[in-house]
Amino acid sequence: MRRVRLSYGSAVELGLIKGVLRAKPTTAYLFLKDVRCRGRCRFCPQSSDMGDEEERISRVDWPEFALDDVEKGVSSNRKFQRVCIQCSDEHSVKEGVLGLVRELKGGSDLPISVSTSPISLEQMKRIREAGAEILTIPLDCAGEALFPLIKGRSWDDHWRALRDALGVFGTGKVGTHIIVGLGETEKEVVTLIDRLWRMGVVPSLFAFTPIRGTPLEGKPAPALSAYRRIQLARHLIVELGAAAKEFRFDKDGNIAEFCVPAERLDEALKDGATFMTRGCPGCNRPYFNERVSGPIFNYANRPRPEDMARIKGDIFGSAEGH
Ligand code: SF4
Repeated sequence: MRRVRLSYGSAVELGLIKGVLRAKPTTAYLFLKDVRCRGRCRFCPQSSDMGDEEERISRVDWPEFALDDVEKGVSSNRKFQRVCIQCSDEHSVKEGVLGLVRELKGGSDLPISVSTSPISLEQMKRIREAGAEILTIPLDCAGEALFPLIKGRSWDDHWRALRDALGVFGTGKVGTHIIVGLGETEKEVVTLIDRLWRMGVVPSLFAFTPIRGTPLEGKPAPALSAYRRIQLARHLIVELGAAAKEFRFDKDGNIAEFCVPAERLDEALKDGATFMTRGCPGCNRPYFNERVSGPIFNYANRPRPEDMARIKGDIFGSAEGH
């Protein structure tokens, strides 16, 4: 496999294509694909259920380049803080990613994250030995009952993989992605964040983005207010030591109250980082979930004071906050 796909922003930042970026990626995002992903995720344009070959993951185009050009670009780039390799679910990719990690490590000191569907313990060890720092196994769907319908896969198999990954990569070096808005409740997302964080897995939030041609193309993106509440809950749990049981949920499973000390809530709300892209260190994923015109779900850069006023309004129903 001597070719690899790059997110549009990463390709511009590496000088492989010309373009103007509103926000520059701080991670180089690579996508390794051979023929066709075997996955059947109902939200994903890469799914094997899609008719035509697609270049997108979520909203982002992933043009293809010669591997040598990408490696050269990554080794001479001084702006990236990390390389992220997202893997299509194919046997050849599980082998190919080992060589890619080794080659990238040979030319650059940047830490590498690999994101893949569940793989064997042996494969995890080989990816670790090749030089990857973080392994991400995306759960994507937070609802256990919904999971097989959305992902077409086994919930238990993903948890087995997350536990195995912790054994190989260690606490804080295993990640997962959660897509908000697939039909789960806020309570399910928050309970999942709490469970993951306590076991040593770093959860990263995405907003569901309807993509034309996918089975979920008609489903709307989540309400911004719901997404903000979940971002705040994640920050309280992951950064400020809160627990899901400290939040009160209404009968529909929405967060009704953050029952944490006022100082802790103030601290989370004054820190714009709460609403920025969270995940592996140095990952900002500009415009993965949003149009440049907004609404912005994950801020790639720190939100401005006027953004923060709006965010507080989204959470508490008034621009004055709580
Ligand atoms: S959090 Fe960012 S760097 Fe880490 S696996 Fe996900 S997309 Fe890649």
